[in-house]
Amino acid sequence: MACVNVCPMGIDIRDGQQLACITCGLCIDACNDIMDKIGKPRGLIGYMALTDESRERSGNAPKSIWKHVFRPRTIVYTTIWGGIGLGLLVALFLRTDIDMSIAPVRNPTHVVLGDGSVRNAYDIRLRNMNAEAREFELSVVDHPDIALSMEGVEGQVVLVGPDEQLNQRVYLTAAPGTDEGNARSTPVRIWVSIQGEATRDYRDTVFNGRGQ
Ligand code: SF4
Repeated sequence: MACVNVCPMGIDIRDGQQLACITCGLCIDACNDIMDKIGKPRGLIGYMALTDESRERSGNAPKSIWKHVFRPRTIVYTTIWGGIGLGLLVALFLRTDIDMSIAPVRNPTHVVLGDGSVRNAYDIRLRNMNAEAREFELSVVDHPDIALSMEGVEGQVVLVGPDEQLNQRVYLTAAPGTDEGNARSTPVRIWVSIQGEATRDYRDTVFNGRGQ
């Protein structure tokens, strides 16, 4: 059967590459069968790049498959996407398995207590991305005059269940007469660490003072 008779798209591929071709390859098999029957070499019809078609028409040999694959564009694209993939893999293995976000309570921004100390409240979300319950410890390292306490919790350690998230109200209190208590606002870094592990992380926020 001639190659034109087997084509589901009704194409005569001997006229060259055509848009309607779905590259099913039926014409290649039919052509090879006929060439076998008449004792001629196979491969009269085959897959090739458009650039090779024009090269063959002008009597030149087609480019090797490797020259089609390893072109400057494919090398650059492969390098870029390989680098992105490698970066994502490294980031996946370097990420910590804890997470914390801080939302300062704005109404009111601060409260002056009876002894003259200034207190700010924060809603902190702690996330434990581990299959075991762990104790999260919160602290403020850079400001010795600011004390951290938690609502409903003794001390600065709170237990977060496996693969769970805990919303915790936290208070920062500046002692009376301190710079942080008198300033309008002071940048503060709250650290979170896991008891018994080296894992730690931090988030930055601000402490609102009396503004004097
Ligand atoms: S590859 Fe398939 S669709 Fe394309 S010309 Fe050959 S038979 Fe037709």
